[in-house]
Amino acid sequence: MDYYVLTLFPKMIEACISTSITGRAINNGYISMTSVNIRDYSTDRHKHVDDYPYGGGAGMVMQAEPIYRACEDIKMRTKKKPRIIYMTPQGRVFDQSIAKELAGEEELVFLCGHYEGIDERAIELEVTDCLSIGDYVLTGGELAALVVIDAVSRMVPGVLSNEESGISESFENNLLEYPQYTRPEEFMGMKVPEILLSGHHANIEKWRRQQSLLRTAESRPDLLKKADLDKKDMDYLKNNIKNLQL
Ligand code: SAM
Repeated sequence: MDYYVLTLFPKMIEACISTSITGRAINNGYISMTSVNIRDYSTDRHKHVDDYPYGGGAGMVMQAEPIYRACEDIKMRTKKKPRIIYMTPQGRVFDQSIAKELAGEEELVFLCGHYEGIDERAIELEVTDCLSIGDYVLTGGELAALVVIDAVSRMVPGVLSNEESGISESFENNLLEYPQYTRPEEFMGMKVPEILLSGHHANIEKWRRQQSLLRTAESRPDLLKKADLDKKDMDYLKNNIKNLQL
């Protein structure tokens, strides 16, 4: 997966992506990152990239031309038509199913806005997708792009080692993950559930499934409605959750 991030703050992207699992994935060649400074595409003598909004109002707006030129340059470089994703609070709200969908692409371009946002004409000309990371407003699109890149990268084959594999993680099959424990067996008087020490794999799997069901029912009943539940799951939920609504 080759990522391109169009930004006014390339260092922010580079610092974050080069650490931990994404950093290792870059070193091992599973993903690559090119951060592109939109300012490099300004034709203005002072490299300005923003101006006052037509019609008045607070703040500045990122101009269309540098963004248009940056996007066209990326398209030339990749020789393909990559998806160009504008990170915006007005976009489709990002979730695990979108992460899965995006992980199937060979290249992804992220466009990060700042100030009051981006001249609408650049969006109309270049953007294929608008994504939000939630119903709140950030100062810029970089953190949002990094969130999406991180979640997508975990689904790129080879990025996670076998031990880190995300198969049973939260949101798989619309269930939250069961609770996890590691050594020591007792901490501050709190013991690891006995079943996890039993070595009985079938019982451990059953316990984990039940914990997932309970957690999802308690914290995210909206997800549970979409989960693939069998009769055993349903019976367990009915017996353990009051006022269960499915
Ligand atoms: N005036 C814009 C509006 O009301 O829609 C918000 C602009 S915001 C201050 C500046 C930039 O941050 C946006 O262009 C976008 O790139 C990014 N941004 C802010 N909130 C975001 C969110 N929830 N998801 C994704 N990107 C976001």
